Amino acid sequence: MTPQSEDFSRWYIDTIKKADLMDYTPVRGCIVFKPDGYELWERIQQAMDKRFKETGHRNAYFPMLIPESFFEKEKEHVEGFSPELPWVTEAAGEKLEEKLALRPTSETMIGHMYSQWIQSYRDLPVLINQWANVFRWEKRTMPFLRTSEFLWQEGHTAHADEEEARHETLQMLEIYREVIEQELAIPVWMGQKTPSEKFAGAVDTYSVEAMMKDGKAVQAGTSHYLGDNFAKGFDIKFLDRDNKLKFVHTTSWGTSTRLIGSMIMVHGDDKGLVLPPRVAPTQVIMIPIGSGKKREIVLNKVDDFVTDLKREEVRVRTDVRDETPGWKFNEWEMRGVPIRVEIGPRDLENNQVIIARRDTGEKLTVPIDQLIETVKGLLNEIQTNMYNKALQFKAAHSHVHIDTLDELNKHVIKSEQDQVIAGWVLAGWCGDETCEAKVKEETSFTSRNIPFEPPLNKETCITCGQKAQHTVWFSRSY
Ligand code: AMP
Repeated sequence: MTPQSEDFSRWYIDTIKKADLMDYTPVRGCIVFKPDGYELWERIQQAMDKRFKETGHRNAYFPMLIPESFFEKEKEHVEGFSPELPWVTEAAGEKLEEKLALRPTSETMIGHMYSQWIQSYRDLPVLINQWANVFRWEKRTMPFLRTSEFLWQEGHTAHADEEEARHETLQMLEIYREVIEQELAIPVWMGQKTPSEKFAGAVDTYSVEAMMKDGKAVQAGTSHYLGDNFAKGFDIKFLDRDNKLKFVHTTSWGTSTRLIGSMIMVHGDDKGLVLPPRVAPTQVIMIPIGSGKKREIVLNKVDDFVTDLKREEVRVRTDVRDETPGWKFNEWEMRGVPIRVEIGPRDLENNQVIIARRDTGEKLTVPIDQLIETVKGLLNEIQTNMYNKALQFKAAHSHVHIDTLDELNKHVIKSEQDQVIAGWVLAGWCGDETCEAKVKEETSFTSRNIPFEPPLNKETCITCGQKAQHTVWFSRSY
């Protein structure tokens, strides 16, 4: 496996391949989510879905094929998405009258349906989420992080007024923050996208942004206030209490299988994956040690532990394969299992077992009668420790005292020379798009978001030196 310090992208690809999370296919940019990768997605789904339902949303499913004419109904939307659309032009040997796009997102199809479902204020709000696959024919791809077909959820809601729709937009962003921080142990910055980075067709786009171990950013989730743009395009009107016909205000919000890649890039190390206990498919791996007659005793004891741990809803597996313990230790470390329990005949004689933590590499000797409690406590401790480690990393690579483009250029050149992480830079911005574009042009740093709670308010624009209207995170990104 390539060490992270040598080539981070190579390390990432080596790791996900070796851990058997995915495979490439003959279709450009489309990957297989293998069972171990897919199970990570299932755990993310469960964590998200639970919170969507708690906040009143329900799941539905809409078609994957979208008529071409639908895209024309929202000008910015079609401009944003048309370069990335794959098309179906023929079916059953005949050319279609109207070609159909493989959905890149479903605002158009859902907008069309909502226009039929919504008539009166009594029909509002509509709170629907869809779990689906979508297609965006991306030029640059990277497994999980940016693929041409990906799995995601897309929430689409319709409301009677702006205030309620804006509240929904931020509520869902907060849910993303909660899941990503609490379940994936990834700290994020919540904030608003600059106009040049917002979703095609949105009034305002908000995002949660995470820092990977090479200092680059990943946009981990987005929530959009769409105003009445799609309502006007698709004629979604309702008769309000005051007997007036009004356009609804809509929102949409999405997170994808990109989160799997983010989690790997935030926590992984040179030994492989490091999975946060809350989403790890296997939380505890039991390695029985020893052979012959004594093995029988060990295996029986291991079975007892497994039963007890399962009763406590710990996801535990036993590795009884015919391999050496050392081989198994490496294998499960590579796969990122949070806790390894080693049990041999001598341990049993001493009424103890050995526990190894994946996050710190620490080994502990634990009395047998304390194993279950220790494991439960450790799973929580590892989750917290992983989050705190990522938080410290983020703080250590966030630069808040770079004030001019010249300083940023020097910072970027120096970090390349010294082969250190360039990280993120907090910059003032006057609000002019040309100033934002210049940062990208000169440094390839792009604006991530305008954080709701910046660590510092910047006074002057990094590019032109005029008074700053916003404080923005800039960095390289995936
Ligand atoms: P959007 O509809 O563009 O706001 O996208 C919603 C979310 O999907 C983004 O915030 C990303 O996290 C994710 N996403 C966008 N494009 C891709 C892609 N090509 N592969 C995987 N995830 C993506």
